[in-house]
Amino acid sequence: MPIFDFACQDCGKKFDLMISNQDKHKVKCPECGSSQLKQLVSLFSTSTGGSKAVQPSCSAGCPAATGGG
Ligand SMILES: [Zn+2]
Repeated sequence: MPIFDFACQDCGKKFDLMISNQDKHKVKCPECGSSQLKQLVSLFSTSTGGSKAVQPSCSAGCPAATGGG
């Protein structure tokens, strides 16, 4: 089931919901209950197959690399 991002046009609240495509019309703002929502672009980026996961470049001095201590 896809996740859709919405922005309330009434109070500006942004939220995401995991709903089916046919349920988008009955989504309401969890903040104010308004149905004036604008659907945002999904967070998921479409990537073509064969692409390796991009890891953040962490040098030797990175605290995450040493495991803390
Ligand atoms: Zn709202």
